[in-house]
Amino acid sequence: MRTQVGIIGAGPAGLLLSHLLHLRGISSVVLERRSRDYVERRVRAGVLEQGTVDTLIEAGVGERMRREGLPHHGIELRYGGAGHRIAFEKLVPGRAITVYGQQEVVKDLIAARLAAGGDVRFEVENVVPHALESEPYITFGDGERLDCDVIAGCDGFHGVSRQSVPEGVLTTFEREYPFAWLGILADVAPSSEELIYTRTDRGFALHSMRSPAVSRFYLQVPADTRVEDWPDERIWDELRVRLESVPGFTLTTGRITEKGVTPMRSFVTEPMQYGRLYLAGDAAHIVPPTGAKGLNLAVADVRVLTEALAAYFADGSTALLDGYSEACLKRVWRAQHFSWWMTTLLHTFEDEDAYGRRLQLSYLDYVTSSEAAAKTLAENYVGLPFPEDARLNVL
Ligand SMILES: Cc1cc2nc3c(=O)[nH]c(=O)nc-3n(C[C@H](O)[C@H](O)[C@H](O)COP(=O)(O)OP(=O)(O)OC[C@H]3O[C@@H](n4cnc5c(N)ncnc54)[C@H](O)[C@@H]3O)c2cc1C
Repeated sequence: MRTQVGIIGAGPAGLLLSHLLHLRGISSVVLERRSRDYVERRVRAGVLEQGTVDTLIEAGVGERMRREGLPHHGIELRYGGAGHRIAFEKLVPGRAITVYGQQEVVKDLIAARLAAGGDVRFEVENVVPHALESEPYITFGDGERLDCDVIAGCDGFHGVSRQSVPEGVLTTFEREYPFAWLGILADVAPSSEELIYTRTDRGFALHSMRSPAVSRFYLQVPADTRVEDWPDERIWDELRVRLESVPGFTLTTGRITEKGVTPMRSFVTEPMQYGRLYLAGDAAHIVPPTGAKGLNLAVADVRVLTEALAAYFADGSTALLDGYSEACLKRVWRAQHFSWWMTTLLHTFEDEDAYGRRLQLSYLDYVTSSEAAAKTLAENYVGLPFPEDARLNVL
């Protein structure tokens, strides 16, 4: 079997890449380890940057998101007994975020690929990339082989692609945080119209949502937390203590339908390519979810890779492919810094002394009182515009 681009992983990065390549007349095969049902139900990100929304609409897969997604023009920072709104409409006019679950993006992309006759294979075992420096191919299943011009490693942080690069080629940069997020989904209308990021001395909490009837919450918890130790009542009690910290706010509770613990990690690998293997999304970098950047970075990588592959398959030019990693890493590092900064600003650190806590509160006061500081948060949160040379040209 032969294709132009062999894609490992059917998360947002792999599926969007396959779709964008199809729009450019480039063939691909997507190999995914999990079942379709599993990837369509995997609850993860939910905050889409302006550029992600524009990309999905431009690529013809944004119709349902436009109907069902919730555009937000601000977020609240809550600490010290008061809430402070970061108003996007004033600070970054014309730019906003849209709340729309990652699994909905995945469903829309799978539907589009299958409707166009795309080759997306689920429950594929033993995927291994080979001959990355010459004529690459992927073996999978029970001795099957996919020959391709290029391999896109879109298989997330634990995938096989990055691990197939010879030792010593990649440099990794990493930071682990001494806490995790306990995340829940609940069948209850959101208690607030906008996201609330709360800092308390007991730890961070986030009130988010997925639809007018479904809320999403996160609690900062110790890194070794087990979901079994958090029965529903304990979760609601802790959310109440952390979120009902301003006068007049009452948390509405409901049936919890999903619980999970997410470790907090920052990670970058450089370069994001080796031979004819190109890494995109979580396969190349991870951010703590505080800045809501992971899914959005995956989309940004895929835009750059699509342009580079389109140039390569049009006339054999490799300039954009050669510069792929460098082009992506600028945005990746901006998002790394923003995600680290939001995490540091809003979480409690066990080893933090009173001096450190004062610094944290001083910075929160600054961000919520200075327009310049608030603008820095707002423009990073809604996502910086894509550079001119990464514009898509899909139509
Ligand atoms: C709980 C949680 C909350 C998050 N919240 C946010 C948020 O609010 N905003 C945000 O922007 N980001 C958030 N993220 C991050 C975001 O979900 C990821 O950045 C995003 O999924 C990256 O997409 P991806 O396609 O690169 O990787 P993935 O979504 O991880 O997809 C990789 C795919 O490859 C498959 N795969 C792995 N190994 C193999 C193999 N050997 N063979 C074949 N297939 C393989 C996997 O099954 C998977 O389907 C969150 C993540 C988590 C876990």
